[in-house]
Amino acid sequence: RAKEAGRNTYVIYENTMQAISDLRLEKEKSLHRAIELGLFELYYQPQVNNLGELIGAEALIRWDDGERGFISPSEFIPLAEELGLIVDIGSWVMDTAFSQVSTWLEDGIWLPSWRMSINVSPVQFQQYGFLAMLKEKIDKYQLPTCCVDLEITENMLLTDLDSSLEKMKLIREMGVHLSVDDFGTGYSSLKYLKILPINRLKIDQSFVRDLLDDKGDEAIVFSIIALSKAFNVSVLAEGVESVAQFERLQEIGCYFYQGYLFSRPVSSSQFVNECVHGLKMN
Ligand code: C2E
Ligand code: MG
Ligand code: MG
Ligand code: MG
Repeated sequence: RAKEAGRNTYVIYENTMQAISDLRLEKEKSLHRAIELGLFELYYQPQVNNLGELIGAEALIRWDDGERGFISPSEFIPLAEELGLIVDIGSWVMDTAFSQVSTWLEDGIWLPSWRMSINVSPVQFQQYGFLAMLKEKIDKYQLPTCCVDLEITENMLLTDLDSSLEKMKLIREMGVHLSVDDFGTGYSSLKYLKILPINRLKIDQSFVRDLLDDKGDEAIVFSIIALSKAFNVSVLAEGVESVAQFERLQEIGCYFYQGYLFSRPVSSSQFVNECVHGLKMN
């Protein structure tokens, strides 16, 4: 009897595993299809200074699946990374964002001092040929390199610090900016701040969310801002949703902000109409 129960359990386990792998295969297929059919769109979220004036935008990918509607990048980017599809997707993101900024610059919509931030996945960054691709695309759209900001994460440094450091230096020599995204949530050590050629820390939104009620979060935000000053890098707070958060961050000494208070990520036409031509505070 015990044997039988064991067998039944195993059957259930097998069926579950089968269902999981079917679902995965289904997701894989639809991701391949999305790439082939070009079902992605780039949205743009404004980044602002202490006065609420635009200083740039972050490009955020959207996948419009039709049936299921928008699928969140936090859902499909990890899968795309696992399958190596992130290299193609990342290349599309770069083309789209660069061509957009280039057009906006020509039309006088984008100021030369603004920066377009692009999320770069560790898999993509570590890809052989990443630098060559970056150069090629910047040339292709004749973009001033100072208009480009790459958002990388701390965890990227864990795999191969020396080669990542080398790449980062070359990127900086090109004049492209580097930000550390989701700062404070990864596994890297503070000592990297001493050696990494970065321009900006982005305070993760998880610390901003309860900034006003949670002493621990407040202490972390305080420390990140102090660190940024000590290391002479700029600092941007993510996920700013209320005026109270915005004011507190200003008091603590933050300079740059991004969040629903200023605008959600929006389509390129909305970005022009709603963000460039008069950013309204909600
Ligand atoms: P992230 O780079 O940290 O981007 C910020 C996320 O916070 C975005 O989610 C944005 O919509 C959201 N957000 C902005 N302001 C607020 C706010 O005030 N409150 C709240 N609750 N959320 C806010 P999204 O667009 O869903 O992207 C999720 C993550 O997916 C990104 O986190 C990034 O890691 C990744 N991702 C997005 N686009 C790309 C891409 O083109 N390439 C790569 N490799 N990753 C991407
Ligand atoms: Mg980001
Ligand atoms: Mg982030
Ligand atoms: Mg993130």
